[in-house]
Amino acid sequence: MERILTSQTQTKIGDRVRVAGWVATRRDHGKIVFFDLRDRGGLAQVVFSPEAPAEVLAKAGAVRPEWVVEIEGKVQKRPENLRNPSIATGDIEIAAEKLTVLSEAKPLPLPVDTDGYEIGEDTRLKYRYLDLRRERLQRNLTIRSRYVQACREYLFSQGFLEIETPLLTKSTPEGSRDFVVPSRVYPGKFYALPQSPQQYKQLLMVAGFERYFQTARALRDEDPRADRGAEHTQIDIEMSFVTREDVMKLVEEMTIFALEKIGARIAEKPFPVVTYQEAMKKYGADKFDLRSEKEKKEGILRLAWVVDFPFFEKATPPAKGWTFTHNPFSAPINDEHEQWLLKGKNIEQIITSQYDLVCNGLEVSGGSIRTHKPEALKAVFRVMGYKDPEIEDKFGHMLEAFQYGAPPHGGCAQGFERLLMAHLGEEYLREVQAFPQTGQGRTSVMDAPSELSEEQLRELHLRVQKEK
Ligand code: ASP
Repeated sequence: MERILTSQTQTKIGDRVRVAGWVATRRDHGKIVFFDLRDRGGLAQVVFSPEAPAEVLAKAGAVRPEWVVEIEGKVQKRPENLRNPSIATGDIEIAAEKLTVLSEAKPLPLPVDTDGYEIGEDTRLKYRYLDLRRERLQRNLTIRSRYVQACREYLFSQGFLEIETPLLTKSTPEGSRDFVVPSRVYPGKFYALPQSPQQYKQLLMVAGFERYFQTARALRDEDPRADRGAEHTQIDIEMSFVTREDVMKLVEEMTIFALEKIGARIAEKPFPVVTYQEAMKKYGADKFDLRSEKEKKEGILRLAWVVDFPFFEKATPPAKGWTFTHNPFSAPINDEHEQWLLKGKNIEQIITSQYDLVCNGLEVSGGSIRTHKPEALKAVFRVMGYKDPEIEDKFGHMLEAFQYGAPPHGGCAQGFERLLMAHLGEEYLREVQAFPQTGQGRTSVMDAPSELSEEQLRELHLRVQKEK
């Protein structure tokens, strides 16, 4: 007999079925024992009545919560007064005829039948594989998967290709600190983990793919915040022969399609477009929450685009001079602003083609039209105080690539985990990630960072200095 899911049992009244899963709860009423059996489909009640074979009853008596069991039995209607309308299988129960214990379980170090907010982060993440058993996180990760599936569906329908880019790459200034990986083969040299696939996706445009996406991991060595972790996943997009409006329209359509697939309610479509200047004047920030109190209570999403950001801002002291506000690979908003950039004048007035999408006060996407002219890219780094040899060393590959027929292009990255936070009413990014880091930057379950052996250090040409 084939195993079926508990969620498939309610249509099988009178049939013998085989189900398997975890014993969520066990109620022993002396002569009669009940299990709530949990699997990926949900829950179903299993009943061990006095008519069941004696050895089955004996086994059922020994089973404890979270044991993994397989049950064969007959699906029957529950008596009217014992129906449970709060679960999908509440009208039926499975009268057990056979019970096999597949795996025993020690008492769990944390409860898994609550929403989990009451448990300390360290315990939850140390036992994340148990923490994830709770209904709330099963639901969050299911909805996450459906959101990504819907984005893929939409992007494939628009002629996009899904292409992966390297994880071991080169350290480049993209606004954050890099995670670095020492090279064994080249003493004293390091790879960097990507802060985003920015340069590779632009090179894919030079290569002629025109429409690229991937669900990309982005790694940034920053102190974690509620809506930011060392690792996050983004839906990374790049397109050729497009305007700013084309990319915004595509991202907006994808977002609406995917959000509606997961049952989100969006207050305003199309999304309003606000300039940076207006946003600062009206809301005092470039991330703002447009929802009314009523909409907040109803879990409604309000999204808006922000455009026309300044390209550069004064660097934070002790650093001097200018730095980019969003993305050094962006193009200025128009030819006049490009001329200013090339001439290094009116720096504070140069507007970038950047667009950000905000949702309920969170920044959920960002992108821009890129410069595909080597001179303009060089000019960005000159404004930031880089000398030509340094620009050549760090970005020579991009400057060269742009000399072999680079199409005009632009793109976007969507930090969809934040959109899911907004939709699911979660306050922390880690509630929509399977194995997030702790607030102290330690990994779930495996407790990294950890030490390396002397042998490994030697191979990597590294010596660890004692903190003074
Ligand atoms: N690479 C940018 C980021 O990850 C987004 C983009 O411009 O596509 O922030």
